[in-house]
Amino acid sequence: MNTMSARKAMLHLFTVTVVISAAGLCSAQTATYGAPAHPTISLDGQSYTPLSIVTRNMGTPADQTDQFPPHKIIGNIYYVGTKTLSSFLIVTPQGNILLDTTYERNVPTIEKSVTALGFNFSDIKIILGNHAHGDHQEGDALAKHMTGAQVEVMAEDVPALQAMKPGGKDHPIDKVLHDGDAVTLGGTTLVAHLTAGHTRGCTTYTTTAQENGKTYNVIFGCSLRAPAVLTPAIEAEFNHSFQVMHALPCDVLLGDHPSEYGMIEKYAKLQVGGPNPFIDKATCHKELDIEESMFHAIEKEQEAAATHP
Ligand SMILES: [Zn+2]
Repeated sequence: MNTMSARKAMLHLFTVTVVISAAGLCSAQTATYGAPAHPTISLDGQSYTPLSIVTRNMGTPADQTDQFPPHKIIGNIYYVGTKTLSSFLIVTPQGNILLDTTYERNVPTIEKSVTALGFNFSDIKIILGNHAHGDHQEGDALAKHMTGAQVEVMAEDVPALQAMKPGGKDHPIDKVLHDGDAVTLGGTTLVAHLTAGHTRGCTTYTTTAQENGKTYNVIFGCSLRAPAVLTPAIEAEFNHSFQVMHALPCDVLLGDHPSEYGMIEKYAKLQVGGPNPFIDKATCHKELDIEESMFHAIEKEQEAAATHP
C-alpha cells in the first residue's frame, strides 16, 4: 500500500470510528466498549473481527440514509429501508405493518419507498422494531405521528426505548409484547421471539409467505452481535438466543441490517430474473454461525485475559 492509499484507508477508518461513537447505538460507545479489531474468526474462507462486522453492518454515513431501491422480497413482504438499515413493509388487506423505522431522519425516505411501491404510508397500522437501538427504532415517534399506527414493543426493551427521545419526544409504546406473542393483522401473523443479547429485548419475528402456491418460513432476525465485554447475564441471553435461532424453521432469512442476509447480492440476482434469490435455505444460518463463532471467540479471549491478566 502506498502512502496515499494508506492515508486514505486510515482516514476512512477514522471516519467510521467517529460515526460509530457519535451514533452510540448498535455499534456501542467507545473503543473500550465498542468494536475492537480482535478477536479474528474465519468462516468459509472469510475473516471477521468485531470491527469489521460493525463496519459491514453500518457502512458509511451516506449508506445509512441513502434510499435502497424498494423491492418485493416475497409474498406480501417488501424492503423499504436504506442501503445499510433495514425497514420492512408487510402488506395486508386490513392495513400494513412496518418493521423498523430506523433513524428518525430516514422516515421520509421510508415513506418515499412505501409510496414508490404503490402503497400508502398512512395505511401502516402497526409499527414493530427488532431492537431498541436508534438505528432501528429512533423513528418510531415520527412514523406514529405520520400514520397513527400502534407501536408494539418487546417488554425487555421498554426501558431502553423509554430513554430514546429524539427531539425530546416520548417514545410511543401502545402495546407491550412478550416472548411468543403473535402480532396479527389482515390474515398475516408475525410471532415475536425474544432473542436477547444484543439488547435485552432483541426480537426476532417469524412469519410465513406464499409464492407460486408454496408456503415459505420467513425470519426477520434481530442482531446477534455480541458486545466487547460479556457479562454472565449477557452470555446466558446469547446462549439461549443461539438455541432459539437454530431451531426456527427458515426458507427466507432477513435481518435488521441488509448485510446480515446478503441483500445487495440477492437484489442483483432479482434484477436478472429466475428463481427468487431471497428463498435461500442454504444461507439461512450463515449470519448465526458468524455471530456464534465470534461470541465464543470473545468468551475465550475474555477467559484467557482473566486467567493471565
Ligand atoms: Zn443494535
